[in-house]
Amino acid sequence: MTAESRSVLIVGAGPVGLFLGLALQQRGIPCILADRRITDSQHSRAIGIHPPSMALFERIGLAKQIEDAGCPIVRGLAFCGRQRLGEMRFADAGGDYPYIVSVPQYRTESLMRDALRDTEARRLQGYEPLDLEEHDDHVAVTLRNGVGEETHVRASYVIGCDGRDSWVRSRAGIPWRGGQYRDRYMMGDFPDHLPEPDTARIYVSGEGLVEAIPLPSGMRRWVLRTRRNGHQLDPTDFIREVERRTGERLPGLPENGLTAFGIQHFVAGRVVQGRLFLAGDAAHIMSPIGGQGMNTGWMDAWELAAALAGECDFNSYNRIVRRRAAVAIRRAHHNTLVGRPSSSPIFKGMFIRTMLNTPLRGVWLRRFTMQGLPRLVSA
Ligand SMILES: Cc1cc2nc3c(=O)[nH]c(=O)nc-3n(C[C@H](O)[C@H](O)[C@H](O)COP(=O)(O)OP(=O)(O)OC[C@H]3O[C@@H](n4cnc5c(N)ncnc54)[C@H](O)[C@@H]3O)c2cc1C
Repeated sequence: MTAESRSVLIVGAGPVGLFLGLALQQRGIPCILADRRITDSQHSRAIGIHPPSMALFERIGLAKQIEDAGCPIVRGLAFCGRQRLGEMRFADAGGDYPYIVSVPQYRTESLMRDALRDTEARRLQGYEPLDLEEHDDHVAVTLRNGVGEETHVRASYVIGCDGRDSWVRSRAGIPWRGGQYRDRYMMGDFPDHLPEPDTARIYVSGEGLVEAIPLPSGMRRWVLRTRRNGHQLDPTDFIREVERRTGERLPGLPENGLTAFGIQHFVAGRVVQGRLFLAGDAAHIMSPIGGQGMNTGWMDAWELAAALAGECDFNSYNRIVRRRAAVAIRRAHHNTLVGRPSSSPIFKGMFIRTMLNTPLRGVWLRRFTMQGLPRLVSA
């Protein structure tokens, strides 16, 4: 049995926990990151890093590494079947980063882990919390690894960055409100055969959304809304379905197979309780259509680091995280609705054409580059 003491214990070293660790180190606040995983994740869920997040990465000194690891997406094209409806150039949103950077989530995590290695932050790999006791001036946490070894941590604050099924949130008895969407999707990464490697595409059709998002190394992610009953497609059916809806014939097979996913929206009743805090998916979950979940979590982490350093107060953190989550969840909800099958794709096409070819385009530009979300402290 071991015991140690630090200012902050972060439970969960996913993208948000790692970012928080770096932001705390930068302010000279010692922390421990505990994650139950023994090996690093190889899943590529999130890929889009939006301009506000690039500004945050600049502040922690990782913007260049992220850009080198990724590929820029400078515009989005919308189609109804094979008919082009319009385009959106991300440079028109203004700002220092006129593009979204596409990097697989595991790669972003590995860059942050490498950066943390050069700091005083301690990592407890393979450990999860077993029990937690709150005291007036500290929190005592017992953690255990897979072979039953225990360690005790005494920290001034404990942060739950432990994802959707957060142990910290449920241990604190914080309500979790929201629901499940009926929508189902499948995605796969294929060699990119499209002529514009810096352009994302969305296709609306009578059968529902198809997205085609550039990835580094000449790959592209294809996301397909599947039928309601969760019917799963094999690669041949997936390729056939994409071709039927878009006219594009995907070359080869998906690099790591296909992934099916459902979507939800949830928000925690509060994200501060005494010496316990929540950030990232532990605090809120939204539909990934529009790619905001991880990016919103980084905003939480940046502001929480500022609050823990005494630059703003904990009540403001609680208020802003929940307000921002509500706005992001609403935006993601609209994106999800646009992607649903339509009995009148012509009307949906007219709506999208209007949004992209009139001054209303600014509304979507802001939404798809994650501008205008409530912030407590920006970069
Ligand atoms: C298909 C898909 C595509 C997506 N695309 C995008 C996108 O393009 N852009 C975007 O911004 N977001 C996207 N998202 C959302 C994004 O993946 C999440 O918002 C992000 O992973 C949240 O990060 P997190 O660190 O809060 O939680 P997680 O990534 O869930 O990490 C939690 C960590 O905590 C650890 N953990 C959990 N429980 C415990 C415990 N009890 N003890 C110790 N450790 C624990 C886990 O091992 C994990 O390492 C997508 C999601 C999906 C499903």
